[in-house]
Amino acid sequence: MLTCRQATQLLSEKQDRSLFLREQSNLQLHLLACRSCRRYGKQIKSLSQLAKAFRHVDQE
Ligand SMILES: [Zn+2]
Repeated sequence: MLTCRQATQLLSEKQDRSLFLREQSNLQLHLLACRSCRRYGKQIKSLSQLAKAFRHVDQE
């Protein structure tokens, strides 16, 4: 089982690279059990979408 620290680390790395299958499944398992990391995952996801949106605007 991952610690919250490892899980949040993986969540942020996931934005930049694709996770190994093993990391992915460990992370999923942790997220099932841990509500605060799920929330963190949602936040970081919407942040990166926001960042992408801004980048898109820059390119135009
Ligand atoms: Zn956690």
